[in-house]
Amino acid sequence: MKASLWLLTLVTLSWQPAISQELRIQHVVIVSPERPQPRRDATVIVKEGRIAAILESGTARPPRGGPATAATQLDGTGLYLVPGLIDSHVHLDQVPGMTPEHERLHPAMARAAREQIPRSFLYFGFTTLIDLISTPEAMARWKSHALVPDTYFCGGAPLIDGYPTNYTPKPARYASMPYMIVEPGSESTLPKGIEAAAHSPEAVVTRMKADGAICVKTFFERGFGGVHDLPVPRLETIRRLAGAAHAAGIPVLLHASSVEAQTFGLDAGVDVMVHGLWNWNDSSTTTEVTPAVRTLLDKLVARQVGWQPTMQVLIGIRDLYSTSFLSDPMLTRVLPADLLEWYGTPEGHWFRDSMSDTPITDPKAREAQVQSVFALMLSRNDRATAYLAAHHANLLFGTDTPSAPTYANPPGLNAWLEMHRLVAAGVTPAQIFQAATLSNARALHLDREVGTVEVGKRANLLLLREDPTRTVEGYSRIYKVILGGRVIDPSELAADRAH
Ligand SMILES: [Zn+2]
Repeated sequence: MKASLWLLTLVTLSWQPAISQELRIQHVVIVSPERPQPRRDATVIVKEGRIAAILESGTARPPRGGPATAATQLDGTGLYLVPGLIDSHVHLDQVPGMTPEHERLHPAMARAAREQIPRSFLYFGFTTLIDLISTPEAMARWKSHALVPDTYFCGGAPLIDGYPTNYTPKPARYASMPYMIVEPGSESTLPKGIEAAAHSPEAVVTRMKADGAICVKTFFERGFGGVHDLPVPRLETIRRLAGAAHAAGIPVLLHASSVEAQTFGLDAGVDVMVHGLWNWNDSSTTTEVTPAVRTLLDKLVARQVGWQPTMQVLIGIRDLYSTSFLSDPMLTRVLPADLLEWYGTPEGHWFRDSMSDTPITDPKAREAQVQSVFALMLSRNDRATAYLAAHHANLLFGTDTPSAPTYANPPGLNAWLEMHRLVAAGVTPAQIFQAATLSNARALHLDREVGTVEVGKRANLLLLREDPTRTVEGYSRIYKVILGGRVIDPSELAADRAH
């Protein structure tokens, strides 16, 4: 028994096609965002992890050296070959819903979850991820797993003591955010040990770029959930940050979910708003786009500033109160069964319970109450997103997975839920496809590498059973995921695959 298992392992390992081996995908329909029309009956040849040629299937010759040459052949008849998807807003350092303390208490469960999470993004077609607040150390940890999407990171540049550093007690917060910025002129009021010169906008950009960051993430947030007085940066400071980033050739992404914050971002010259618009800074309850909101949205369209609706941010909080969320069968595809079970325990509900002093005696009643609390913000974000989609704004696909220590933003699946929410708001599948491929690649300056099916690009591709410009359903039943030329069957990626 042991020997045959060992043999099976050996066979499985040697079966994995080597990256240098040629891959030929034949008779496939190419759907790629830069093409006005699909290209039918094509043969795509992949060598050394990149797209080497795209030919008419009839004219594609057998691999040089004749049939003896080792080439993996995939028959693409009836399938669509599309670029692998990009999620331009994720956070990869934590297991959703667990604190570092929980991980210490349940080490085996946490380890299995960490091994699974990168696979879950791939399972739903995400071959490229951008972690918006990371460090080289955290990236190395993430990339140490067996199978991981291509991952890049932004340096998080919050204002000292501003959002989101407020979640970490002083003085630990100063060590956890190496790229935090201080307002020029505030030198005399800085906590001990913090050197103003090392945290000027220019110094922070230089340091994160040297560390390998491809973007700057900064924040304009006065607070929410009872907090409204967090310090926010001055306009001039973020202008300097944007100036330094653009001089270094990297984009600036702003956490901004209110009219005030996104207007600030436009004035400061940032490139991407990494949230939708659920705070309209008014006391009314209208969901019709108001003149003030329209002014902002029109400017976003005119300047083609990147805009991530991040529909699932609020839903990931709301669904902590759902009486049915944890029984969604889709969850078993992306997270191990023991972790899902733990989420349902009193310990697993720690984050939900930390948000309220009143214990839940009637779960159904609480669920309904929370639904109504979130309804206005959700429909306002829907309306703003629909307006931008109808006016051809530069929509980007970013999920903010997970947006908080919530289990209700599960890896990979959260993106598919986001797509459904976008469709319900009025965004077309074609717009979602464009946002999750070429628009994301351009916004993050990755379009020479990924984002389309073109010769020279990295072979991060999906073979789908449905045309993604017509429906988003195909992403939940992908035929093959191709990562850097390696062909992966989704059944190998699912959390509930047979071990
Ligand atoms: Zn985020």
